[in-house]
Amino acid sequence: MNQQHQDLIDRDRKVTFHASSHLRDFAHGKAPGRVITGGQGITIRDKDGREFIDGFAGLYCVNIGYGRTEVAEAIYQQALELSYYHTYVGHSNEPQIALSEKIIELAGPGMSKVYYGLGGSDANETQLKIVRYYNNVLGRPQKKKVISRQRGYHGSGLATGSLTGLKAFHDQFDLPLEGILHTEAPYYYHRGAEQQGMSEREFSAHCAARLEEMILAEGPDTVAAFIGEPVLGTGGIVPPPEGYWEAIQAVLNRYDILLIADEVVCGFGRIGADFGSHHYAIKPDLMTVAKGLTSAYQPLSGVIVGDRVWQVLEQGTGEYGPIGHGWTYSGHALGCAAALANLEIIAREKLTENAAETGAYLQRAMADAFGDHPIVGDVRGVGMLAALEFSANPEKREHFDPALKVGARISAAALEENLIARAMPQGDILGFAPPLIATRDQVDEIVARTRRAVDRVTDELV
Ligand code: PLP
Repeated sequence: MNQQHQDLIDRDRKVTFHASSHLRDFAHGKAPGRVITGGQGITIRDKDGREFIDGFAGLYCVNIGYGRTEVAEAIYQQALELSYYHTYVGHSNEPQIALSEKIIELAGPGMSKVYYGLGGSDANETQLKIVRYYNNVLGRPQKKKVISRQRGYHGSGLATGSLTGLKAFHDQFDLPLEGILHTEAPYYYHRGAEQQGMSEREFSAHCAARLEEMILAEGPDTVAAFIGEPVLGTGGIVPPPEGYWEAIQAVLNRYDILLIADEVVCGFGRIGADFGSHHYAIKPDLMTVAKGLTSAYQPLSGVIVGDRVWQVLEQGTGEYGPIGHGWTYSGHALGCAAALANLEIIAREKLTENAAETGAYLQRAMADAFGDHPIVGDVRGVGMLAALEFSANPEKREHFDPALKVGARISAAALEENLIARAMPQGDILGFAPPLIATRDQVDEIVARTRRAVDRVTDELV
């Protein structure tokens, strides 16, 4: 590492509290640091000039790839004109109006309005407030509980971290908060011994039955909403088993429970459709978007409110006056300008179509390279989302001893190959979410580097 890079990291250790990091090890020089200085296409570069293929598009967000001057230019032009004015009490800006029109058009029939935030967590916070307000206006103050899934990921605030169904986000934070429940994850590969012989469809029916049991045990008149990612993301990149969403929606409809589709990862093309909801025929009442909305060129998120909920929100402000909800930066003009430029690139370069086509190629290439690998238990994915799950005995779906840290070691070995693939939390799972611009040649390179990394760790294990 060059001296400049080392100096920057040393300064960083003294003053920065990093997300999702081992705070002590980083502060005291025992965990590595890296300063990223640039990027182009699917590649990022660090202060040493070392280049990595970013097989995870940042945190599955840089969908149009790095170094897009067109987006930088749009942000710059907007900043020259107007960087910011608040959007409270009916104030707006031109990019916000154009962006809302675009999002509603993409989201399709039944969707009515967009409320903006800065990230997925705050958007889901807004969702929870909407759900409460909705039921209060309807005179059902007891209908407030929200059901999420084990291994769901919806953010890391107090309420949204409660929605998240991962242990590390709860332990030592006294979460989940009361009124937020978790039902079984649609994780076919992890199905229990009793579900061993089930087909995917049967397992979906089982998940829906578990959800219904929970609703009945809690009392249907106390359950307000269900939130789910079309494809479980951070919880392991797990596409739903066949028939899952159909079965879940039938239960929700039976008990008048709102459905929130958390499209933060899937939205704007990642799985080869504008939204995961379109791909899986989900009919949500509310949708959460972020990440791919701007490809992370600016922080921006959105809550897309469907007609059914919107009518009630209008009714509520008719009764109680202006809604008590707002962020200073809601509808930030620079975020909206970045989003418009980003969505324009996605449309012009047909990146959603590429995510479907090159994504299918990625799935085949992963299956070919790892389908029979001695430590790979599951190869799965959809579009430009893929995962390898490692197993001590693939035939029996046996997990490795967590102390071996197999997933983290393989991710580190990939880094040695100058490939970023993410070790997902809670399990030995390596995740891939390349930018949607990736070509077949680049997919081949990602798979080849991954193969070398997996083989290297396999050799260490035997
Ligand atoms: N929802 C989903 C599905 C996510 O994947 C994430 C982040 O990864 C979030 C919400 C939270 O978004 P943020 O980290 O921008 O708060």
